[in-house]
Amino acid sequence: MNRYAMEVSGGCQCGAVRYHTTHMLDNSHLCHCRMCQKAVGNLFAALVAAPRETLVWTRGEPARFRSSEHVDRGFCRDCGTPLFYDSTAGGRVNLTIGSLDHPELFPPGANTGTEAQVPYFSGITGLKDGGATEDGQEAWAAAISSSSRQHPDHDTAEWPLTSSSQ
Ligand SMILES: [Zn+2]
Ligand SMILES: [Zn+2]
Repeated sequence: MNRYAMEVSGGCQCGAVRYHTTHMLDNSHLCHCRMCQKAVGNLFAALVAAPRETLVWTRGEPARFRSSEHVDRGFCRDCGTPLFYDSTAGGRVNLTIGSLDHPELFPPGANTGTEAQVPYFSGITGLKDGGATEDGQEAWAAAISSSSRQHPDHDTAEWPLTSSSQ
């Protein structure tokens, strides 16, 4: 597993929890195991790791659910965003790729936990293009955009919505 120096930030949807790391590992993968499916509420967990000693929580603290004796699942207690898989004895923390500010930088290189992979997974990338969010519903998309409480995809010095929404 290679280690790269790079500045990477991410966090939850509401912005109450933010993290930063100065290094990343090249283990980007999709885990289809049943525990990852449940932990992220999805068909698989898309994960890529940061070395534990380089990962800093820059705003708030994640909540943890110990899904087994050796693994913590991290999430935001305010908005529920799944943030990490942490094999607590290991030297790295696997972050959910969707919680990164730039998920496009970490294309997965492997499927793991394939015993629970849904049988239709291989067809997902061949689905018809249902269009962009705003296609045919510009007013709805504008209403969502103008009232969004989602934290932007970059670090912020202040994030007032986290306090006003409590
Ligand atoms: Zn949150
Ligand atoms: Zn898994």
